[in-house]
Amino acid sequence: MNILLTGGLGFIGSHTATVLADYGHHVVIIDNLYNSQKETLNSLRSITGKVLPFYEGDVRDLPLLKRILKEEQIECVIHFAGLKSVAQSQTNPLEYFDNNVGGSIALLEAMQAINIKKLIFSSSATVYGAPQYLPYDEAHPLQPINVYGRTKLQVEEILQDLSQSDDAWSIVCLRYFNPIGAHNCGLIGERPQGIPNNLMPYLCQVASGQLPHLNIFGDDYDTKDGTGERDYIHVMDLAEGHAAALALMNRQTGFEAINLGTGNPVSVYELVHAFERSIQRTIPRIVQKRRSGDLPIYYAKVDKASRLLNWRAQRDLQAMCDSSWKYEQKIRAVL
Ligand code: NAD
Ligand code: UDP
Repeated sequence: MNILLTGGLGFIGSHTATVLADYGHHVVIIDNLYNSQKETLNSLRSITGKVLPFYEGDVRDLPLLKRILKEEQIECVIHFAGLKSVAQSQTNPLEYFDNNVGGSIALLEAMQAINIKKLIFSSSATVYGAPQYLPYDEAHPLQPINVYGRTKLQVEEILQDLSQSDDAWSIVCLRYFNPIGAHNCGLIGERPQGIPNNLMPYLCQVASGQLPHLNIFGDDYDTKDGTGERDYIHVMDLAEGHAAALALMNRQTGFEAINLGTGNPVSVYELVHAFERSIQRTIPRIVQKRRSGDLPIYYAKVDKASRLLNWRAQRDLQAMCDSSWKYEQKIRAVL
């Protein structure tokens, strides 16, 4: 298939590009480089052995999108492009609604105009909000507790309305849990700008000496060891979930929302210990107060993905830590 990846040079998009290219799909990328680097294209060429057509541009640029969809004879779009910082979304809500919701509307208008009606959307576990029960299944109430989560929920609602207005649409919202890890070759991975907010990139920077110690945000939660628990998923498993979603879209039309996680909650200490095995050293750490807005624990029920996508996460926590560390070492070597 000819597939357009919006935000395809970012963390999840770039890994998905390698998997889709490997499956023989023709992958085209649009990215405005807001949170990514053009050099990732060279890495994608080394990994896939292919030159992937790249357009530097914004998904809110309707004429550009229409041109790409037509000229590249796109059959399906995977919409990764968006902003993803919970903290920034709280201080800059308009920017987040404009990019995440406005960008999605522009993309959908372009797709509708060219009659392309297959879409996979990068949604998030944040759409669920405070757990009323765990694991979250897809029928759990949707009450996001931050602006970022509300932008994702609004797009999901637009997509559901669109699919109800026209049954030719085939739409899959993939609700990602906590993607970490990197491609095995160490050429692509997660590269946040500035001081990372998320646990794995922070750990990597402590290990490589960029930051002095890890702050553990709370060890007094009612969890297995007092620290927060999350459902970390290897980004290559997540990437393969997109290939499985493409197969589903070729079988059915309509709207589906599907969790992509492992179903296993992992605590901060468990992740730190696994990471220490990867680097074969201990990580200096200081227990701090709880981080405001953090939920103690959440993880996915993964039965729907298994049933509809015939997909399950394959890689374990150690593989996630080993590959994250391999990528960190590669980027530190070139910087
Ligand atoms: P990322 O920031 O690494 O990638 C997003 C890419 O989109 C970047 O390359 C950025 O430059 C590009 N982009 C942003 N706005 C754009 C625009 N208007 N036009 C064109 N390009 C634009 O993020 P990621 O981790 O790869 O996440 C991909 C998607 O998955 C996002 O929509 C994010 O909200 C969602 N998601 C991510 C996580 C996570 O923990 N990483 C979890 C759940 C959902
Ligand atoms: N966390 C931490 N120190 C950090 C970053 C995160 O202790 O520097 C904890 C955080 O409190 C949560 C877990 O690690 O329990 C995962 O946090 P992350 O920001 O990676 O993901 P999210 O909270 O968005 O699910």
